[in-house]
Amino acid sequence: MKIRFKLTSQTRFMLRTGEQYVEGIRERRHAKIYVMGKRVTDVTTNLFLKPSVLAFKATFDAAFQEDTRDLARAFSPFINEEVNRFVHIHQGPQDLVAKVKLLRRLSHKTGTCFQRCVGWDALNTLYIVTGKMAERGDGVYRERFLKYLEHVQRRDLALAGAMTDVKGVRTLRPSEQPNPDAYVRVVEERGDGIVVSGAKANITGIAAVDEVVVLPTRAMTEQDAAYAVSFAVPLDTPGVVVVVGRQINDARRMEGGDIDGVPYMAHHEGLIIFNNVFVPWDRVFLYKDWRWTGPLVEIFASFHRQGYGGCKSGLGDVIIGAAYELARAIGVDNKPNVADKLAEMVFLNESMYSAGLAASWEGSKLLKEGGWWVNPMYANVTKHLVARFPYEISKLAHDIAGGIVGTAPSEFDLKNEEIKNLLEKYLQGVPEIPAEERLRLVRLLENVSVSVGFLIESVHGAGSPAAQKIMFNRLYDYEKAGEIAKALSRVKVTVKWPKAPEPRRPSESEKL
Ligand code: SF4
Repeated sequence: MKIRFKLTSQTRFMLRTGEQYVEGIRERRHAKIYVMGKRVTDVTTNLFLKPSVLAFKATFDAAFQEDTRDLARAFSPFINEEVNRFVHIHQGPQDLVAKVKLLRRLSHKTGTCFQRCVGWDALNTLYIVTGKMAERGDGVYRERFLKYLEHVQRRDLALAGAMTDVKGVRTLRPSEQPNPDAYVRVVEERGDGIVVSGAKANITGIAAVDEVVVLPTRAMTEQDAAYAVSFAVPLDTPGVVVVVGRQINDARRMEGGDIDGVPYMAHHEGLIIFNNVFVPWDRVFLYKDWRWTGPLVEIFASFHRQGYGGCKSGLGDVIIGAAYELARAIGVDNKPNVADKLAEMVFLNESMYSAGLAASWEGSKLLKEGGWWVNPMYANVTKHLVARFPYEISKLAHDIAGGIVGTAPSEFDLKNEEIKNLLEKYLQGVPEIPAEERLRLVRLLENVSVSVGFLIESVHGAGSPAAQKIMFNRLYDYEKAGEIAKALSRVKVTVKWPKAPEPRRPSESEKL
């Protein structure tokens, strides 16, 4: 029996089950979503998007499953109720740590990016930025945001975070672009709200969300004031169009098998177009005040870079596990060269995770009343490791597993009675492990280790590697490091040692 929920202002359920989430987006029939040239009315049954919906669903199910229940729930002081952690505002370093741990575990259950963290990071970012504005005397955005937060927490909504604009000519600022909509902007200001136009690219999970939270993609100048805008709208708002992007092996989902076609889960990215979309004022969290865009981008980017330490190390576990089992399948798991490669993979994987935990434990409060943020240096280190190590982990896994990762026959060959026996005989290594088991592990390894979620997203998600190097140069205090060197080399005899051992300068947001 289907359970139907009507959301009203009196709605009290704070934790939705995975089924309730799926039911919610199934009923959202008028959202304009396109996949491979066709309009999709029901993303929950569409073969291309269903694996992505299931990955999103896992974030809801986590609040009810024995092993993740404690990690996936948190107490919200904003509504005085327990909420799903994916809509929670961090109340201290322990919450930041729980985020990284939850993300690692969810990667084990999904084998992909489960997409819900971007909207979560957008909420925490807006909480801090609107809080800072309020501390400076402009409380209007704060008030609107807190109401929106309550709306999200009470309904346990699935949010996408949309930051990356399509950017047109990369050397030109938003207001200098030949296409004025190359960055999302306000095209009309009305008594009851604003009208926005433009598009955001590479938006994780966009077709499977209830609402999208839009953030500016870069620090703006006064000339770019119309582009300094943040808002939230439901995905089925008139004028919103979503075009889902393709990924490697995606057509396998339509083949109908249960081995080759990523039977676990997958994620998607898409383009969201705002075609003169009306946004009421109570959904606008930043407008024209371009000076806040720099800190906003910095805060959001660091939040998401920290999270990568959890989700990518979780995918690393999947790959290490598959490589180990494939080594066992051919009897080489105890060989020294394989053990050495496995140890190297563990080192790379745990390095990403450790950095994510350090970014969390070393977090600090940006607001008088809270506003917990990660340590930006370690969050950027985390992401920079993630931009490199997954490629190395994948290479080592392919090395251990052998060429079969790129040459294995189809599952339909294994099911064909004419050749089944032959394939079972020649795909088998050690007698205890049947050929089908080996093929399943090969497919898992192939689908996860060369996926967009483990490779391309690791490089470009939350900012490309160059963006982290800019942050390293901003945050590292070369003068202090120079003082240390001068003291030890006796170039300088008296040195005033700072309290903190790390040579670090405050970030833009920490200086506010
Ligand atoms: Fe979450 Fe990781 Fe996906 Fe980002 S890349 S949305 S942190 S699972």
